[in-house]
Amino acid sequence: LSALDREQMEGLRAIRAFLKVRTSYDVLPLSYRLIILDTSLLVKKSLNILNQNGIVSAPLWDSQSSTFAGLLTTSDYINVIQYYWQNPDALARVDQFRLDSLRDIEKAIGVAPIETVSIHPDRPLYEACRKMLSSRARRIPLVDIDDETRRHMVVSVITQYRILKFVAVNVKDTQRLRKPLRDLPNVGTYSNLATAHMDTPVMDVIHMLVKKNISSVPILDKDGTVINVFEAVDVIAIIKGGVYDDLALSVGEALLKRSDDFPGIYTCSIYDQLATIYDTIRKSRVHRFVVIDEQSKLKGVLTLSDILNYTLLEGEENEY
Ligand code: ADP
Repeated sequence: LSALDREQMEGLRAIRAFLKVRTSYDVLPLSYRLIILDTSLLVKKSLNILNQNGIVSAPLWDSQSSTFAGLLTTSDYINVIQYYWQNPDALARVDQFRLDSLRDIEKAIGVAPIETVSIHPDRPLYEACRKMLSSRARRIPLVDIDDETRRHMVVSVITQYRILKFVAVNVKDTQRLRKPLRDLPNVGTYSNLATAHMDTPVMDVIHMLVKKNISSVPILDKDGTVINVFEAVDVIAIIKGGVYDDLALSVGEALLKRSDDFPGIYTCSIYDQLATIYDTIRKSRVHRFVVIDEQSKLKGVLTLSDILNYTLLEGEENEY
């Protein structure tokens, strides 16, 4: 092992040790808001609520049984879109869908039900990360049990981004991760990339998201230069208010619906180190890095789950 390799391993060990002694509670700010949606809400109303509050997901509450009913995410809306696409005459029915119909929609279009993982906020963050990685969830609800009523209590939801940012802010050892991405071929995806062009129908791009179970598709010009990224969260703006007409648009037209506070896309090169990547995570709300070369041509995609996976599991495969 080279000195660089040893230093990298030490950095990873320090981060893992940190995640084992901190809990999800530690990640939560002193004060925060929590928007929980009742499962009897109409799907189109839920879209408005997410849009108005600038959020892309919310825990669900079944008030009939007073239980936590899973997490509403962009995947649920993508399922509704697919259902509508397969049953274009059913618009009147789609219009009346409530959040508690989402599980029936999953069955109707034949997708696996979305896992309803959750974790107790007192459990180590390391465990929350492992649960997210094994379920491929990008966020995990923190659910406690009320001592008196024995009922579920949804405390908050933590995302991959929140955890990685918490690490970047608190663990100086992230600076020891100095191997360039070029020497970490298993971190990120560099082949069989799903991509599209500005004139690709947005429905084709949505199908790519589903088929590959990915959360974004880079948009290239005819020379392979990266000009934008379509994200799974972009579907929320497209079907705003329960209007599905915009699904006939091209991805370029659909991207014009993005809100003005879109943070932009983040790029990196194969010469960047994870130390730099963690720096960017500390400073900016980034969800993925598009890996490009000197000519801005697409090389790969490095997502938060790739970073989390490497940070937790590199060299620990036998523990699985
Ligand atoms: P996250 O779980 O962080 O939201 P994704 O779901 O987008 O990330 O990525 C899941 C896996 O698929 C990762 O290993 C990532 O590198 C890979 N991936 C992401 N986008 C693409 C794409 N457009 N084409 C091929 N693979 C991708």
